Amino acid sequence: MMEKSRPRIGILGAGQLALMLAQAGKALDVEIVCAGQPGDCAEQAAEVISVDLDDATAVSAFAAQVDLVTIESENIHADVVQGLNLYPNARAIGIAQDRLVEKRFFQECGIGTAPFAPVDSVEDFKQAIEVTGLPAILKTRRMGYDGKGQVRLREFADAFAAWEEVGGVPCILEGMVKFDAEVSLIAARGRTGRIVFYPLIENHHSEGILRTSIAPFVDAALQQLAEKYLMVLLEKLEYVGVLAVEFFVVGDKLLANEMAPRVHNSGHWTIEGAETSQFENHLRAITGMDLGSTQSRSMVMLNCIGSMPAERETAAFPQMFRHDYGKEARPGRKVGHLTLPATESAAIAEWQRRLQG
Ligand code: AMP
Repeated sequence: MMEKSRPRIGILGAGQLALMLAQAGKALDVEIVCAGQPGDCAEQAAEVISVDLDDATAVSAFAAQVDLVTIESENIHADVVQGLNLYPNARAIGIAQDRLVEKRFFQECGIGTAPFAPVDSVEDFKQAIEVTGLPAILKTRRMGYDGKGQVRLREFADAFAAWEEVGGVPCILEGMVKFDAEVSLIAARGRTGRIVFYPLIENHHSEGILRTSIAPFVDAALQQLAEKYLMVLLEKLEYVGVLAVEFFVVGDKLLANEMAPRVHNSGHWTIEGAETSQFENHLRAITGMDLGSTQSRSMVMLNCIGSMPAERETAAFPQMFRHDYGKEARPGRKVGHLTLPATESAAIAEWQRRLQG
């Protein structure tokens, strides 16, 4: 399929990650088409075909129109992606979409995690808490993102309410980690098995949503350790494309929290900050092109949650890059991001205040 000179890539989804992949695709000799709904934000940069992503027949009809398929979200049903020419592969996506399977996979790869136990009924809490201790955090195994499907437990008496709150679906209980920092590592693995890494990124969350990413997080030993871990994951999965892993830093250890089999919010700064962005490297990897350099400069990315600041406000900061996804304002929704060179510390502090205030 891939012998054609200009590959046609189908993205399952047409949100902001698909939009930024499509924007990166313009500089490469690839054609991008997205499966989504009319009005989805990727329409700004690519053709969006109306496809119900829960309908396996519709997705396979979409896949028949392209050379290869990739994703912008791991929350896609396994039976929908069966038999597609899919990058990354269905196994990697299947692992990443289930927090319990994912944590067990980390352990199998020799990567530490928070203590965890499955919770399939309210009766499981007692035994699970013996493993995790308290406080703990209950997370739905599937479909959780941006802090959704998560409830914190301070004491055993919170268990019933937490179980009700998540809707009584299969869950994982995790011990709360007292971390020194949260970081992520983004890597790309090409078809030949070559791997490139970006520098570690420091991430700040609030209410389960990423607010700020600072690159690089400078710690040579942790960078080396994180690269070693991702190398194991990428090779075990025979992975092709961009993979992001979020870690808790505890002293000189890294505990894996979750992995994203796709381009990642904490890597948006690579558009302006790296020689090759995560979006371009993902497209390069999945189409069999050489991977680009990840040489980068220090940058800070601030997410715009709920609504975008007015253009006249951001225009007053000439060093700032503004990405408006063109999405309707809604509380808790990621509608855009701002990127600044890390040297612009006064402007960063000012915008952190404005965006979180
Ligand atoms: P997640 O959806 O798993 O990435 O969780 C969102 C955020 O909640 C993380 O980035 C952390 O800030 C926090 N969090 C999640 N799990 C834990 C944990 N086991 N210990 C401490 N903080 C956590």
